[in-house]
Parts: sequence; structure tokens; C-alpha cells
Amino acid sequence: MTFEEASACLAVEHDDPQTLDAPIQARRFKVFTDRQLDTIPQLQHLSESQRFDIKVVSRVLPFRVNEYVLEELINWQQVPDDPIFRLVFPQREMLAPEHFNELAELMRREAPASEMAPVISRIRAQLNPHPAGQMELNVPHLDGEPLPGMQHKYRETVLFFPSQGQVCHSYCTFCFRWAQFVGDSELRFASSEAGQLHDYLARHPEVTDLLMTGGDPMVMKARHLRGYLEGLTRPELAHVRNIRIGSKSLTFWPYRFVTDPDADEVLALLRELVDAGKHVAFMAHFNHWREMETPVCREAIRRIRATGAQIRTQAPLLHHINDSADVWARMWTTQVQLGMVPYYMFVERDTGAQHYFEVPLVKAWEIYRQAMQRVSGLARTARGPSMSADPGKVEIQGVTEINGEKVFVLRFIQGRDPDWVQRPFFAKFDANATWLPDLKPALGARRFFFEQDFAQIKEEKLALAEA
Ligand SMILES: *Cc1c(COP(=O)(O)O)cnc(C)c1O
Repeated sequence: MTFEEASACLAVEHDDPQTLDAPIQARRFKVFTDRQLDTIPQLQHLSESQRFDIKVVSRVLPFRVNEYVLEELINWQQVPDDPIFRLVFPQREMLAPEHFNELAELMRREAPASEMAPVISRIRAQLNPHPAGQMELNVPHLDGEPLPGMQHKYRETVLFFPSQGQVCHSYCTFCFRWAQFVGDSELRFASSEAGQLHDYLARHPEVTDLLMTGGDPMVMKARHLRGYLEGLTRPELAHVRNIRIGSKSLTFWPYRFVTDPDADEVLALLRELVDAGKHVAFMAHFNHWREMETPVCREAIRRIRATGAQIRTQAPLLHHINDSADVWARMWTTQVQLGMVPYYMFVERDTGAQHYFEVPLVKAWEIYRQAMQRVSGLARTARGPSMSADPGKVEIQGVTEINGEKVFVLRFIQGRDPDWVQRPFFAKFDANATWLPDLKPALGARRFFFEQDFAQIKEEKLALAEA
């Protein structure tokens, strides 16, 4: 059975959740990590060797799942092909065979932790834990001091990583921030300094957007969230008009907005920000329409929207999970129906198990194009496929031929230099390319138009970081 067929079967089993108006029951938040894999009842559906594979890979890549995901989102009849299963459970093929075998061997003979730890660290280090120059190039400074819990890559938007929000309700196997979740505190961006955030923003009138990110900021208690956000309504921060919250909680724990003890407090905070004139954009991460099928997810969406906040949606395109135009068309259509605005389709980043999830750029563009063709204009607001690479967000606009040369047409959606944005440029067509550095300039150019400027920007940033 193909993914599409399997998905369609599952769909008819669901009643239309919108027609059900039974009250949502609270549910316990029970989490399983790699240490508790054997206690997950549903894993008894798998063979001994499948379970062993999961255990091996979860020593390297982050693993954390909760009971809601296990019971309501994964269709265990379809495992291992179920997209939500692949979203949260590490698979053998996510590691290179030599890495897998080395670690499997140690685990089979129950090697001590002291022997295992350096092997795990070495494997992780080879998985490009910090893509796109995040550590060196994006960290801003205040009075010469680096602000490690923040990133300021594009002029108008500052990213903030609140220290209480540096986990998620479950982890995604493809997470590009995976290095933060595997226990290496040195690799962790985080700040609990609301004051520093506000000071930095006050001194940067060019910043219109604050993006709260993580981890997942929605794991925070309402009072912590308030500590960061309430101050933004002060007059000296009037230029920060848009508050974005990046979150996968609508998938992994929609109870956050419905039955959690401080659910109403969180919603009240969003409403206050809206009433104070802020645009509150809840940036929801959805990889598959299946994540939006449960009554509790739909109720959470309804409640967030009722505060006046907008919900925009974004996700990477992933082999094994959503590499089909049907899945994207249905996902975007469902989102519009539920009042959300499709925003980005990303290309899977060059980190972690990229080789498992990556899709050639040409195929990503074909899926995007076909999905767009199947939806109404209201669902065509998603830009992409977009690569969040070192110099900026680069969108694949298409493939065409110019003077007999087959090329990719590209543009910056965002750039480290705002002047790069919206200038079309060309790369030689390459059927296997999956990421920006795979691409070569086309039409006789020796360099891409931005390369020289980017080299200079990089030099300046690195000098500042060292100073
Ligand atoms: C995507 C992104 C933003 C936001 O860009 P928009 O085009 O405004 O959506 C900001 N900072 C970083 C590092 C990003 O990757």
C-alpha cells in the first residue's frame, strides 16, 4: 500500500471531528525517553530487532514521545510506514551503516557507558550539529557582550530561546535543533534574561518581529511566558509589532490550550498582546494532515484563534513522511479550512539524519508545484521550497532552460543582506542536489552574485565574535 492509500484508509475511519462536540477530557502528560523504550506498550507490536534498532539510534538522536502521540496520532496498523511513527521514532537507516553497526556492537555486549559515550559523541559530531553558522554568525551583542540565548540573522527579526522552553512535548527525528536535546549543554542556546532581551530590542528599532523559539516555548508555564512577553507592550518597544511563537504543541500536546491547568492563562496572555496592538503569530509546525485530525487539536486551534492571534503553518518536506503532493495539498487545504495560513515549505536541513529525510531539490519543487496546482489561491500562501542556509532563505522557484542550458531559478526570501532579497539568480541544473552548497552558478558565472558580500559579512561577524 502506498502512503497515500494508507492515509486515505485512515481518513475514512475518522468521523469528521468538527461535528463532534463532546467536551475534551483532560489527559495525563506521560513522557517516554530512550531509557523507557521498553515500557512503551505499543512497541510490543514490533519485532525484537526493530525495537533494538530504535534503541541504538535513540542513543544518538533525541527521542522523547508522549502518550497522546502514541495513542491518538500513530496508526500502529501502519507501522513502520506510518508517517507519525517515523516523525518520532528513530529508524535504523537514520544512521550511516558503519555508525549503526559500531554502536549496535557495543550495545549487544553491554559495553559500559564510559566506552559508549565517546563513540556517541563522535557520531554526533559527524552529523553537523550546528548548521548554517548559527553559533558563530547569528549571536548578537549588547555592550560588546554576546547574548547566547538569541539570534539575529535578518534585520527585522530576532529569535529568542527562553531557557524554560528548550525541550518539546515530543521530539522529531529530523529536528534541525537536535543537538540541543541530546544533553550537551555547551551546544545549548538559552537565555532566561527577559531584561536582556528587552534591552536589546529597545536598542534595535529596526527589529519589528520577535520570534520565540526553542525547543518549544509552549512547554513553558504561563507565568514564564508572561515574563518574556508582557514587557513588549511598553512604549519603548512599540517598534516590535509582531510576536511570533514557533511551536509544535498543536501536534504534540494540544491540551496545552484546552485542559492544562494554566491553559486559560496562556490564552489570556495572547489576547492581552493582541489587545495591546501586537500582531501575534503562532507559527505552527505541522508535517502531515493527520496531526490535525483529533478533536483536541481542532479545539486548541479554535481557542488560539479566538484570542485574535493568527496561526501560520510551516514544515520541512521529508522523505518517508510527507514527500507527496497529495499530502501537502490536503495539509494546506485542511489548514485553510481550520482558519490557519500556510506560510513555509522548507527543504530538510543539512544536519542530523539528513540523508534519510532529504529529497532532491528538483523533486521538492515538483511536489510544491503539484500541491499548489491542487489547492485554491487561499492555500497558495506557502512559500518554498526554501533552504535556510548560511547566507539566507533561498527558494527554488523552478527549473527552466536559458539559451539551451538547464538551470534552477532561485531567489532569496530572506538574506543576511536585505539587498539580496527578491533578485532572481541561476544555478546549473543538478538532479541530485539537495542543498545550497551542492549548486554551481549557471550561464558562465564564476560565482553567485551574493558570494563576495557574504564572505565579507562573515569576516566581520567572526571578528566581532572573537573581539
Ligand atoms: C526564517 C527566519 C526568520 C524569519 O524570516 P521571515 O522571512 O520574516 O519569515 C528569522 N530568523 C531566522 C534565523 C530564520 O531562519
